[in-house]
Amino acid sequence: MADQETIIIGGGHNGLICAIVLARAGQRVTVLEAGSNLGGMAAEREFHPGFRSALAQTLYAMPHSLIRELDLTAHGLDLATEPLPIKPLSIAGTPQSITASSLAGAEDDDTAAYPKYVAMLGKFAAALAPFWERTMPRVGATGMSDLMTFGKLGLKLRLLGKQDMLEFFRVATLPMRDLLDEYFSDDQLKAALCWDALVGSQLAPRSPNQAVLTLLNRMAGKDAGQHVVPKGGMPGLVRALENAAVKAGVTIRTDCTVESVRIEGDENGQRCIGVELQSGELLLSDRVVSSADPQTTFLNLVGAQHLEIEFTNRIRRLRNKGYVARVHLALSGLPAFKGLDSPKGRLIIAPTMDSIEFAWDAAKYGQLPEAPVMEVLIPSLQEPNLAPQGQHVLAANVMYVPHDLKSGWTPEHRAALLNTVLSELTRYAPGIQDLVLGSELLTPQDLAAQYRTTNGHWHHCEPAIDQLLMMRPTYEAAQYATPISGLYLCGAGCHPAGDVSGNPGRNAAREILA
Ligand SMILES: Cc1cc2nc3c(=O)[nH]c(=O)nc-3n(C[C@H](O)[C@H](O)[C@H](O)COP(=O)(O)OP(=O)(O)OC[C@H]3O[C@@H](n4cnc5c(N)ncnc54)[C@H](O)[C@@H]3O)c2cc1C
Repeated sequence: MADQETIIIGGGHNGLICAIVLARAGQRVTVLEAGSNLGGMAAEREFHPGFRSALAQTLYAMPHSLIRELDLTAHGLDLATEPLPIKPLSIAGTPQSITASSLAGAEDDDTAAYPKYVAMLGKFAAALAPFWERTMPRVGATGMSDLMTFGKLGLKLRLLGKQDMLEFFRVATLPMRDLLDEYFSDDQLKAALCWDALVGSQLAPRSPNQAVLTLLNRMAGKDAGQHVVPKGGMPGLVRALENAAVKAGVTIRTDCTVESVRIEGDENGQRCIGVELQSGELLLSDRVVSSADPQTTFLNLVGAQHLEIEFTNRIRRLRNKGYVARVHLALSGLPAFKGLDSPKGRLIIAPTMDSIEFAWDAAKYGQLPEAPVMEVLIPSLQEPNLAPQGQHVLAANVMYVPHDLKSGWTPEHRAALLNTVLSELTRYAPGIQDLVLGSELLTPQDLAAQYRTTNGHWHHCEPAIDQLLMMRPTYEAAQYATPISGLYLCGAGCHPAGDVSGNPGRNAAREILA
């Protein structure tokens, strides 16, 4: 294995992590990134002169074990920042503040229930955590290591104790609404607490199946999934990964788009022998690992002519429509939000779980919601150098904005959406409009084009129950190897899913080295 040549398509965080692990094991690794910057969706962009932001703002899903294994602190990662509280915004200005260990501003009953809720989810998240960090067995596999994975999962759940194990099976596929109704009465609190189970997915509070699992996956990250902004923002993490990659001997090429994956073979099988760049350059290698999303990898870079029809159909049918838009505002000063002393934190605009459901109802029929729900962050409070002195950046994840707007995206629709978002913000922060120096709207279509991700999906493809675990993105490609010998996947479209966790990248590298 050592001294072999590996090409990695895409220099997002998963591509970089896969590269570091393989290079440290002695492989000669080259990362080819189409964009000018590394980091993929965690890369920084200037959206208005002097104002910068990344799509991914907060780190929560990356496990401690990965940060330690890659020695990221020694390569410049600084996570010595306070976790961000969740602050649901209210027009009446009734402030609440939620952290993993405290709930301020809620009714007594809800305050009393909160530690029980957190403890229950914490136990389940800890039991599942090891399974996000390893390859899922093949469907029907009977090998020793596959059986051990199932055995360990069973044991972890059994060790919860009978009562908790039964409770885990009961809640694991509940809609978030039902789970939260069991514990709490305050509408605003429940809406804020379901955010992390839903954001980035085709899910609303009444959706069954994978919302609780998504939440548990996110809670398996460093410090129980609490959100932190690394020093230097997400680009601080990307720089640490780049430093670690360079130190390990990885060659990195940016502005380098892979046009196709080269396949050789006959009726006895096909083998991947390298890639062809947009420039026409041919690069040969022993293997290619793609962090591009599965449809881009198989349909655009490999080509259906090299794949079995059934496999191609399953890749074509992947559900991967993005429903999150990003709005950036360049602000001349810090906006004042009703009821908040400081807007430091994750500000949630979603007054009730119904308000989230109604926004989703519109989007699932291809319409723009009348009242979008959103999570707002002012990253320049943590990183003042994102904006000129005394000025600020506001970044809002706006849900639900359909990739496929029924009437098609026109300049008028874009203006209308931006206007609606600004009006919503003004209800909670009167006067904010007077501070706006510039703005940027990125619809899921813009995200698809600018971040080279099919349909602009946060997770590359929906982490739905039929596209999870040993089915992610689909069987025959769920163990990072693909039906084409020498071609692997390592991006968010693989187990366990998206977010800046690094799990797909590290799991893929381990699988290659096994
Ligand atoms: C609006 C928004 C906000 C988000 N916020 C957060 C957050 O706060 N925290 C969090 O943890 N997650 C967040 N996410 C999700 C997270 O950013 C992604 O899940 C994660 O970045 C996926 O990482 P990746 O390395 O697998 O893929 P990507 O980050 O998508 O990187 C893939 C890379 O491959 C490159 N590429 C693709 N095709 C080619 C080609 N043909 N040749 C060369 N290069 C190619 C792309 O240019 C890209 O750089 C957010 C997502 C969105 C959309």
